[in-house]
Amino acid sequence: MRSKLSEMLAIAGGKPVREQMLPYGGQTIDDDDIAAVVAVLRSNYLTTGPAVTALETAVARYVGAAECVAVCNGTAALHAITQALGIGPGDEVIVPAMTFAATANAVVYQGGTPVFADVEADTLLIAPADVARKISRRTKAIIAVDYAGQPADYAALREIAEAHGLALVADAAHSLGASDRGEKVGVLADVSSFSLHPVKPITSGEGGLITTNDAEMARNMRIFRNHGITTDYRQREERGSFFYEMVDLGFNYRLSDIHCALALSQLQKLDDFTRRRQEIAARYSAAFAAHPLVRPLSVRPETSSAFHLYMVQLELNRLSVDRNAIFAALRAEGIGVNVHYIPVHLHPFYRTHFGTALGLCPVAESAYHRLLTLPLFPRMTDADADATIDATQKVLTAFSDRASK
Ligand SMILES: *Cc1c(COP(=O)(O)O)cnc(C)c1O
Repeated sequence: MRSKLSEMLAIAGGKPVREQMLPYGGQTIDDDDIAAVVAVLRSNYLTTGPAVTALETAVARYVGAAECVAVCNGTAALHAITQALGIGPGDEVIVPAMTFAATANAVVYQGGTPVFADVEADTLLIAPADVARKISRRTKAIIAVDYAGQPADYAALREIAEAHGLALVADAAHSLGASDRGEKVGVLADVSSFSLHPVKPITSGEGGLITTNDAEMARNMRIFRNHGITTDYRQREERGSFFYEMVDLGFNYRLSDIHCALALSQLQKLDDFTRRRQEIAARYSAAFAAHPLVRPLSVRPETSSAFHLYMVQLELNRLSVDRNAIFAALRAEGIGVNVHYIPVHLHPFYRTHFGTALGLCPVAESAYHRLLTLPLFPRMTDADADATIDATQKVLTAFSDRASK
């Protein structure tokens, strides 16, 4: 039994469960990673060199795709995809409401219109039935998001996409290393994008990847990431020529060899990272699966989640305070909880420029008020996870509507 003093919430002046804030996510960097970066720094190529090709080859092999293109971040990866699909003014692309803004922004970069689909209440993955409902004559593509690290329902989405001649895109920023019935994320959609930001499954500091089996699309994206120029300077050097042609308007979205070497070194440890994330998630689920005050997200059968994030949904009808109060109380306990995400259609930019409003995606909107992301990253210890469980338990009990006041 806890003493009265330790039960007193830190936010009310009690002793916090942890003295130091446990972040919600973070990278795992070891000496091999550092050595890989240093080796590039000592080499001839800091960018557009052999580390880029080595990373692309290794990622393509890992997910089982024919092609991989490395770019400077996950948002650039999504932009390269909307560009390669020919999205333009007048075109609509269906995206889930529950995602990071970058998913929808990539449509807007091309002058297209994102159309927000609602999510499933138990997984918060894009709901195929709502996707089908939101298709119009202008729809060109569907971008699914592997929210929290588990693959979306690509079998159902593919059926819809094929029936309407739409491209199927995976925003797999959360899910490198995940799979569905033995098939790795990276080949479940026509084209998939990944992020190498430090909180994501593996990191290069900043970085992005695209995988596809479509060679023509990969070629287009390699030109797009290099100003729209058909050859890079290394190829010109090899040919002893100055000549190049800019065939399209592109960007400088290249990923340097320094970044690629770090990502390649990280890739060797991805399966270990995933296993550790799954262990911590299992620890949380054991504590919270039957809890009366929170509900973990469901994991679809036959999928293996990368567990980028571990969320619970609060049972607000059994709590005396709202999510923000629980959030503040947990932060005070030294638990770096977070919220993923504010539904994208509720951001002022989308309200102003696309006329989106409350009521468009009721499941996502309702989930938003109940969501809490618990700390989860491979370097976490079991003791860190247990502190999160204890603090969550302590705070929920204090704010349970049955708690005596
Ligand atoms: C992180 C993230 C992105 C963007 O990736 P960056 O590398 O940060 O640009 C896109 N979509 C989702 C769902 C993400 O979580």
